[in-house]
Amino acid sequence: MSKQFDVAVVGAGPAGYHAAIRAAQLGLKTVCIDRWVDASGQAVLGGTCLNVGCIPSKALLDTSHKFSQAQSEFEDLGIMTQGLALDVAQMQRHKDLIVQNLTKGVAGLLKSNGVEVVTGTATLQAGKILKVTDAAGEVSTIAAAHIILAPGSNPVDIPACVRDDEMIVDSTGALAFDAVPKTLGVIGAGVIGLELGSVWSRLGAKVVLLEAMPSFLPTADEQISKEALKLYKKQGLEIRLGAKVTGSKIKKSGVEVIYEDGDGTQKLTVDRLIVAVGRRAETKGLIALDAGVVVDDRGLIEVNEVCETTCAGVYAVGDAVRGAMLAHKGMEEGVMVAERIAGGKPQVNYETVPWVIYTHPEIAWVGATEAELSAAETAVKVGVFPLAASGRAMASNETAGLIKVIADAATDRVLGVHMIGAHCSEMIAEAVIAMEFGASAEDLGLTMFAHPTLSEGLHEAALAVSGHAIHIAHRKRR
Ligand code: NAD
Repeated sequence: MSKQFDVAVVGAGPAGYHAAIRAAQLGLKTVCIDRWVDASGQAVLGGTCLNVGCIPSKALLDTSHKFSQAQSEFEDLGIMTQGLALDVAQMQRHKDLIVQNLTKGVAGLLKSNGVEVVTGTATLQAGKILKVTDAAGEVSTIAAAHIILAPGSNPVDIPACVRDDEMIVDSTGALAFDAVPKTLGVIGAGVIGLELGSVWSRLGAKVVLLEAMPSFLPTADEQISKEALKLYKKQGLEIRLGAKVTGSKIKKSGVEVIYEDGDGTQKLTVDRLIVAVGRRAETKGLIALDAGVVVDDRGLIEVNEVCETTCAGVYAVGDAVRGAMLAHKGMEEGVMVAERIAGGKPQVNYETVPWVIYTHPEIAWVGATEAELSAAETAVKVGVFPLAASGRAMASNETAGLIKVIADAATDRVLGVHMIGAHCSEMIAEAVIAMEFGASAEDLGLTMFAHPTLSEGLHEAALAVSGHAIHIAHRKRR
């Protein structure tokens, strides 16, 4: 006999647990199924984001940033740092503690909202039945009127660099190094490569990133990518563009990486190698062939604009469906689906998904880039404010970077905001809210920002769209 629910959610990562909590808040009898267990076999909720993604990487990014600032910036401020040392084991314990607290927190939230949690691997059968297999191989079935698939994604492995989880690792392995490697290779100068490369570089590793694409960060606005490349190089990250990795050998002396660039075949030997070449939807074995849910050849579950699959009553959200592989995008999709099941009609606005790269300085953006708008033949006006002109940035010794506002030339509506600088991951929310409310650059210019703050840079960039920024020397008008 199957246990019967109103809503069954597969996956307790950000997309899944948000969906489950909102469904339960709306009075639906909800179960959430996840197979993630720790080394001792205990169920662990929170998925990639909490266990081996966003949260642990931010813990290491913040710790390594503080260490690097103490090493190279504090003396300028009059803070003496003789005897400064790094304890990698303590840094990792701190990271693990944050992860433990947060994953337990998710378990607590599900419980207090009345969501039943089941540990095991679920497969979707025809007729909205989930077959759940636990660690001991015991099989049970769950039936639900509505099923939400939120299985997440996994790092892509490449045959050229087969992981041994010791010398060649993926992002999960790179979060758990027990010592700082002398030399570190990173394949892929994307979001993960840059964040993890930054962590170990700040702690003392000589880091080389090998990126197949000829251009750097092609999804970001070009002005921001150029500024970022300049700043990262200054920090000591070596970024080799147009370098496609084709092979590797584990040797006594380290990992030999073979790659092709414009000059032919090249070799690089490093102590450790991180493979960060993208992520793939975790849908293998998730859906029985006769379940009526279509999965494309990249493993993505086909859904419409409100995350319904090709089978009525079955939905899919997060990294396993089209769009950005970002935790916050999955969270909003999960909440939207739960509310639609309960009879609401919300939608996710995919035009205002914020992007953040948590290097230092941080990169963040929302909306279109100048190149995208130019390709679409949209006439725009652009305002740029360099943080070097911000009093607060000077006071906090964080003057690297800029904020850029792009507005429609005809209507003045804000179409994109791009930032590189300290705390941009926080400031981008101001731009998201402005765009969500259809603000013009003038609206932003007429809004009062607290002084002195870095956010004033957004105000000034919006004013610069019409040539009225106060702290930029505009050409004299007659
Ligand atoms: P990515 O797509 O951002 O970057 C992978 C890079 O690897 C690409 O630039 C690609 O050209 C390069 N590459 C692929 N094969 C190569 C080869 N053989 N040799 C050299 N270079 C090669 O992927 P990622 O950094 O692994 O991140 C995966 C996903 O996770 C992304 O969708 C990302 O948005 C998401 N993510 C987001 C955040 C964040 O929001 N801060 C953090 C981590 C991950």
